[in-house]
Amino acid sequence: MGDYRPCGRGSRCSNPTLDAAGVPAARWGPGAFCASDTRLISEALAGLPRLYTELSLALPRTAQANRDTQVTGSTEAPTPLNLAVEALMRELVMVLVTWEEVCLEPPLPAGATRPGYALARACAALRADLGALLALPRGTQARHGRLVELDGVDAGLDVLRLHHRAGRLLQAPPTIEVRPAPCPACGMYALLLDAATRSTRCQGCRHVISEQQYDAWCGQLTGHGE
Ligand SMILES: [Zn+2]
Ligand SMILES: [Zn+2]
Repeated sequence: MGDYRPCGRGSRCSNPTLDAAGVPAARWGPGAFCASDTRLISEALAGLPRLYTELSLALPRTAQANRDTQVTGSTEAPTPLNLAVEALMRELVMVLVTWEEVCLEPPLPAGATRPGYALARACAALRADLGALLALPRGTQARHGRLVELDGVDAGLDVLRLHHRAGRLLQAPPTIEVRPAPCPACGMYALLLDAATRSTRCQGCRHVISEQQYDAWCGQLTGHGE
């Protein structure tokens, strides 16, 4: 058992061994991860391009257009959820393309590549060479403006973490609900509540009011206000 080591997921190993007290511990094996978690990483790589597409579809059209053309100037205020989706999409492409470069040293693309395509290509290439990725020795990468030391275990954990985050974001509950009161500015029944920011916006005139303002407005309408 010379080169055996604990699964890189540590206490979160998906196929743990139980010690005498019944406490789960990482399964030991010859690779960076146990067979069970290696399979989960492979499946996550296979699923990430589809999750990326689903994330892009979750964005409003203005945000999609801005992302594709790198032009700003949308009149829609971005919601925290949309910002989180966009940030995760950028992170997915940055992390997976960087691991592809570190592991496989692919030829530089001839021209600009759409981020979704670059991600799909990186995932397919890394999945085909998963053993090489997970066995990578420690090396320096730039992450969010800092230099960090990462190896193949970090690569596997990156894949699982990003796959989990994408799934969680896509399961986020609907954040928009229709409000029953008319708009205080234009009178249209067109108020929508953004549950993430608790702000209410009129689809007709784009008037925005806070939760307190909406409550006060409802009080006035029903004659119970100040
Ligand atoms: Zn494991
Ligand atoms: Zn209005």
